[in-house]
Amino acid sequence: MAEIGGRREQMENDLPNGFAITSMERLVGLARKASVWPVTMGLACCAIEMMSAGTPRYDISRFGMEVFRASPRHADLMIVSGRVAHKMAPIIRNVYDSMPEPKWVISMGACASTGGMFNNYAVIQGCDHVVPVDVYLPGCPPRPEALINAILVLHDQIHYQEPLTEKRRREVARLAEQAALEATPTHMQKGLLA
Ligand code: SF4
Repeated sequence: MAEIGGRREQMENDLPNGFAITSMERLVGLARKASVWPVTMGLACCAIEMMSAGTPRYDISRFGMEVFRASPRHADLMIVSGRVAHKMAPIIRNVYDSMPEPKWVISMGACASTGGMFNNYAVIQGCDHVVPVDVYLPGCPPRPEALINAILVLHDQIHYQEPLTEKRRREVARLAEQAALEATPTHMQKGLLA
């Protein structure tokens, strides 16, 4: 590995100005991470912070992400922002299934990740029961800066993800989903108040 790194460095030194060497995987990763479009999925108070991230003050347009797509066919990122009601779960899954591959999910806020303070029959205790999550963002609500940090973490994951392992990624998502389906049903989960 060190030898390959040394050879690449040597080749870069030998190249004329304006040339650089990289691998196809890194190039595809760069293109993917720089062209992520989120789908509209604001569910509760966290969505206000998500919307703030699109304003000039926080400016997620620096990543080309300021236009939240109304059609899942045009999007490859779902930011689940807010608590997920049981009624909403099939709709979220439907939207997720309509997004083209590869696609990613950020679970924004305590409610989306765990149900938060709403340990009751109406709220799903974590959106990973419904869709596979790539980045969990804690907070109630997380500030727009925290969402931007979660987006940067996701960018790193996308950049260094091997395109050839896409099949493996889908398999991991399927296993996570299966584990979530086999977990204790949310109506049987008891919190401190139960
Ligand atoms: S985590 Fe807090 S701000 Fe976000 S939806 Fe839940 S209660 Fe609202």
